[in-house]
Amino acid sequence: MKFKKSLVFIFVVAAVLVLSSGVMAQTYVVGTNASFPPFEYVEEGEIVGFDIELIKEIAKLQGFEVEVRDISFDSLIPGLASGSLDIVAAGMTITEKREEVVDFSEPYYSANQSVLVHEESDANLTVLFGNHDIGVQTGTTGDTWVRENLIQTDILTGEIRNYDSYVFVIRDLSNQNIDAAVLDKPVAETYSQNNPVQVVAEIITGEEYGIAVGEGNEELLAEINAGLEKVKNNGTMEKLIQKYFE
Ligand code: GLN
Repeated sequence: MKFKKSLVFIFVVAAVLVLSSGVMAQTYVVGTNASFPPFEYVEEGEIVGFDIELIKEIAKLQGFEVEVRDISFDSLIPGLASGSLDIVAAGMTITEKREEVVDFSEPYYSANQSVLVHEESDANLTVLFGNHDIGVQTGTTGDTWVRENLIQTDILTGEIRNYDSYVFVIRDLSNQNIDAAVLDKPVAETYSQNNPVQVVAEIITGEEYGIAVGEGNEELLAEINAGLEKVKNNGTMEKLIQKYFE
């Protein structure tokens, strides 16, 4: 009798576990670099911004949960490859080189690069020529652009300074420890609102941002694209653009 009761108990526990795992939403780890306002930044200890709201909205629509992690930009793609991250939402530009190692969603935002200098500087685009020091965030398209167009051509004879976070790029620029920074224009403009820095030139690179998943993760990519499509069609995208850019 006792034996029977415990069997029933085990059966009930097993049934509850099976049922709850069926209804419990899957949690995906989202990697970002929260020094990229207004796309991702830290406010009162929380990671917030356009991309964060976007991925949370997609998750809600598609029925999954997300846990957001703030790591250095150049660790995001390795994180997808190693499986420590499932998704990257980081204002990441879709490039051919990155396409070789990760898969991108449909594009959701377009941007160019820009040149940022101190607000009291009378520098213009020519700050990129000659003996000047230029700050970039490691692994970004701004970093690559400076290397390919200015360093390899000997146009820039000063240093390219690499940083793990734009927060430190902006700090060094505000302190005039570097002469300029090259970064995505919407972010440079956002920083210029609260820091003694100004955008003096735009570099037309025609970049498009995508949400990334591990190479070959077709199922998750389809979920993200489906959610993105809904966000674009149901007015949420428009609302996010108004909230963060207007
Ligand atoms: N859009 C740029 C890139 O993909 C910068 C992104 C970022 O620094 N978060 O490299």
